[in-house]
Amino acid sequence: EFQALVLTKENDEATLSVKKLGLQDLPKGDVLIKVAYSSVNYKDAMVGVHHQMVKSFPHIPGIDLAGTVIESSDDSYKAGDKVIVTSYELGTGHHGGFSEVARVPKEWVVPLPDGLTLREAMILGTAGLTAALSVQRLEDNGLTPSQGPVLVAGATGGVGSLAVDMLAKKGYDVTASTGSSSEKNYLETLGAKEIISREEVTDQDNTPTREKRWAAAVDPVGGSTLQYILSTLKNSGSVATSGLVGGIEVKTTVLPFIGRGVNWLGIDSVQCPMELRRKVWERLADDLKPSNLNEEVVNEVSLEEVEGTLQEILEGRVRGRTIVKLNGS
Ligand code: NAP
Repeated sequence: EFQALVLTKENDEATLSVKKLGLQDLPKGDVLIKVAYSSVNYKDAMVGVHHQMVKSFPHIPGIDLAGTVIESSDDSYKAGDKVIVTSYELGTGHHGGFSEVARVPKEWVVPLPDGLTLREAMILGTAGLTAALSVQRLEDNGLTPSQGPVLVAGATGGVGSLAVDMLAKKGYDVTASTGSSSEKNYLETLGAKEIISREEVTDQDNTPTREKRWAAAVDPVGGSTLQYILSTLKNSGSVATSGLVGGIEVKTTVLPFIGRGVNWLGIDSVQCPMELRRKVWERLADDLKPSNLNEEVVNEVSLEEVEGTLQEILEGRVRGRTIVKLNGS
């Protein structure tokens, strides 16, 4: 028997509760894992509170997990191996990480890189993978620290906080934009050189091009923030788009693209190819490992406390990363 946070539906009403389950309740898969830590992402709130992306009930949410292999029907993994699982259908179409035990297809598993503990892997989680994929794509498109300031939007969030830290560590001059004016010290600790308001990076009037400001931007916000970013990138600058907390609609024109040669780069951690995924996890354990994978950034909760965190995330009240401690830790 083990415990999991389960989303059940009765008479059109879905509820979350911690339940005792058996191995027979888990989906088919090659690798059975004792979960040490999970983490809470914005997407978990879309699943757990709004029931989006859920294919069937009962459902265990949790798009991230890290733990130790109990048994594997595939030779690539053996009992005792430490592993990370994120992305694909984990926590959406397949039972996820808010569970003391998980069973997943071998194709989803990433060996824990040397240089990261299971706990650190979950402080990073999908947010860290997404921040690192963003940095990787910006670099692949020619970004170097000498080109000027890099904007990180939604900077106190999971993706934002980790991107600020990674970019600062790599020597970039980071400007952090935030709606949380009281978090100036926090963002400075992570390495932000300048902190500006969310309003300053919100396009109010659909202006296609403005004064050039950024060599690049990491944007987990979208909406009118992305409109503003596209209008203020320097020539050949790039924005890595990953999120939608500020809205999904983006009004722009061809002008920044044909007049300034800017690049709009899409970041999809879910279907990221395994070769790139492993490379980026290796970097997360090495040159992109944030300097502050500590109490500054992380809040640790129990399975019982996850539901409250999901609400807080939707209200924009969570700073940095929240990890979930499970029995295997
Ligand atoms: P999070 O921890 O909740 O961070 C989001 C941050 O955005 C908040 O902390 C807040 O930062 C800012 N924000 C919140 N509401 C806003 C609003 N209405 N307008 C403007 N800014 C707002 O979430 P997360 O887990 O980092 O995820 C961020 C986004 O990235 C989500 O949309 C998520 O679905 C997406 N995501 C995508 C991928 C992918 O593969 N594409 C992977 C991971 C996450 P401030 O208070 O500092 O402004």
